[in-house]
Amino acid sequence: MLEHILTAEAAGLGIALPDTAPAAFRAYYTLLAERNAVMDLTAVTGEEQVARRHFLDSLMLTHCADLAGKRVIDVGTGAGFPGLPLKIAVPSMELTLLDAQQKRVDFLQEACAASGVQARCIHARAEEAAAELREQFDAAVSRAVARLNILCELCLPFVRPGGLFLAMKGSAAQEEADEARSAAAVLGGKIVRLETYTLPGEDIRRAVVVIRKERATPPQYPRRFARIQKKPL
Ligand code: SAM
Repeated sequence: MLEHILTAEAAGLGIALPDTAPAAFRAYYTLLAERNAVMDLTAVTGEEQVARRHFLDSLMLTHCADLAGKRVIDVGTGAGFPGLPLKIAVPSMELTLLDAQQKRVDFLQEACAASGVQARCIHARAEEAAAELREQFDAAVSRAVARLNILCELCLPFVRPGGLFLAMKGSAAQEEADEARSAAAVLGGKIVRLETYTLPGEDIRRAVVVIRKERATPPQYPRRFARIQKKPL
């Protein structure tokens, strides 16, 4: 079921998966289902839903940028989305998974080992990790972490000038993008386009906001989270 949905629908969406992908996704799914029974990792359950709403949804980012060989950070990755499925699909990517919750990072380490994926898993808040990892990545990706004006301050500092920030959003993407335009500019970024899509078998409209980093982020950003939240840029 899982393997069939992934291979058939990824092919239908024009996403090429390596031969290693079905077994890697199966191992990831098995661990996710097992751990989700005892800890809160995701509200999405069952092979079909996980295949579509987590795995295929994550893979939609391959339509927005060529991530092969690129250094990519997934900010607020939770149980690994979208970073881990992307790495399964694009093994040459150099992946860093970052999350503020230790139990999720413990799960990520297990999930990487089970699915044969090499990734750096970091337990930290994004706004604190930015000091050490500033402008070290070709791309930052993120899904379901914060509103875009806030998320820009959490993610853009990680991206090198010339790199990309890909923010996965729901049906309010255009509104969030309009609201975040000035925050992106202050942080050295520019919203260049919105890519909209609907997943096969789902009728929810989703979007990726593509932000290019045009110049270095001024050193006073990111601020502390309380400040970011209270006074978004
Ligand atoms: N990206 C995953 C997904 O789409 O399934 C997880 C989404 S979950 C709703 C949000 C995650 O972001 C949580 O795991 C939380 O710990 C993490 N998070 C929230 N704020 C963060 C921050 N400032 N730095 C790092 N992680 C953060």
